[in-house]
Amino acid sequence: MLKNLLNLDSRDLEEFFLDLGEKPFRARQLIRWMHKEKQQKFSLMTNLSQNLQKTLESNSTVETPRAISEKVAPDGTIKWLIEVDSVNSVETVFIPEKNRGTLCVSAQVGCALECAFCSTGRQGFNRNLTVAEIVGQLWFASKILDSNLNLSRTSMQENIVQPISNIVMMGMGEPLANYRNVVKAIQIMLDDNAYGYSRRRITLSTSGIVPSIDRLLTDCPVSLAVSLHAPDDDLRDQLVPINKKYPIKSLMEACLRYANRASVTDDCVGTGADVSRAKDYITFEYVMLAGVNDSTRQAKVLAALLSDVPCKVNLIPFNPFKDSGFKTSSLDTIKNFRDILKSKGYVCTIRKTRGQEIDSACGQLAGSFKDKTGRQSLNVPAL
Ligand code: SAH
Ligand code: SF4
Repeated sequence: MLKNLLNLDSRDLEEFFLDLGEKPFRARQLIRWMHKEKQQKFSLMTNLSQNLQKTLESNSTVETPRAISEKVAPDGTIKWLIEVDSVNSVETVFIPEKNRGTLCVSAQVGCALECAFCSTGRQGFNRNLTVAEIVGQLWFASKILDSNLNLSRTSMQENIVQPISNIVMMGMGEPLANYRNVVKAIQIMLDDNAYGYSRRRITLSTSGIVPSIDRLLTDCPVSLAVSLHAPDDDLRDQLVPINKKYPIKSLMEACLRYANRASVTDDCVGTGADVSRAKDYITFEYVMLAGVNDSTRQAKVLAALLSDVPCKVNLIPFNPFKDSGFKTSSLDTIKNFRDILKSKGYVCTIRKTRGQEIDSACGQLAGSFKDKTGRQSLNVPAL
């Protein structure tokens, strides 16, 4: 079987070339061809010898996932359905704003964690994505957006297209449940010979797998967002069931360790320089569910809970989906919740819902896949 070189980061590629009797610098050349030039044909990689091109053709490939549909919302948000194999597809979303463009990347086909308010979780789980399938979402989106960007520059079009300035691992799945592949894909995103993002421009969102948060700090301390959604264990056990395994106290301790140590970590293993030493903070995500977690009392308990951790709070209006059993809190309730947190000294923002018309807002991503848990066929009751 041919080896898909898109699965390999720079270290793997160096080993791969050493095994072929080649010098390690070939890894750098190949990464540039694959990720910067988006070149998939070895015969067109002109600084490789013809012999090496032939060897690569006989044992390897550069294979990206394929987009099978593209939907564009009135606010410019783009959602791609990406086919990863004959039965599974995942979703990738691009969110353009005035001064930045954010790509929301999926980590798994579905999600095994069953958070009560999440459409992806409700759909069940099939498998982890490979490194090539994760980084391939960035490969594909940047290829399309860069060509649109050039087009709009040359034709002087009015609608300015943003390049991808930020990446959020907030698509389908729990990134820390696919740890190895996600970290390797992020290493490629950080690699100066590939995409060269700084670690602060990549955010990983997790429902709170505590041991993996600690591992991430050592391996690759990107910006961390934690899906908290409840200020106490009783409620969080119901909304985010992984809380039964890693309760709030242990999660808060891990967050504190992460914020403290990430702020003095200059660089990521094997990647380019990131000289910024600004203090790191954790972003706590809190989905606003009417009558469930949005009271004045709960805002006060939350404020007390977060007092030790350098953080900001991002309130996410609940994005509805069919048979969810939840309702979004009213705007007044969300503002009241925000104001309480602000009065206690927190930076607290309300996330603007983007691309809801094309079901691309947080928690609405469902892809199309064969569930292996049997959950898709169950009518899972909400709270
Ligand atoms: N599994 C990871 C990342 C993917 S979900 C995590 O849970 O953090 C990205 C964010 O969307 C999370 O904060 C998640 O809690 C939130 N989310 C899930 N379903 C939602 C919904 N229906 N409305 C609003 N936010 C939702
Ligand atoms: Fe999985 Fe995140 Fe959805 Fe929970 S919120 S089910 S962890 S994708």
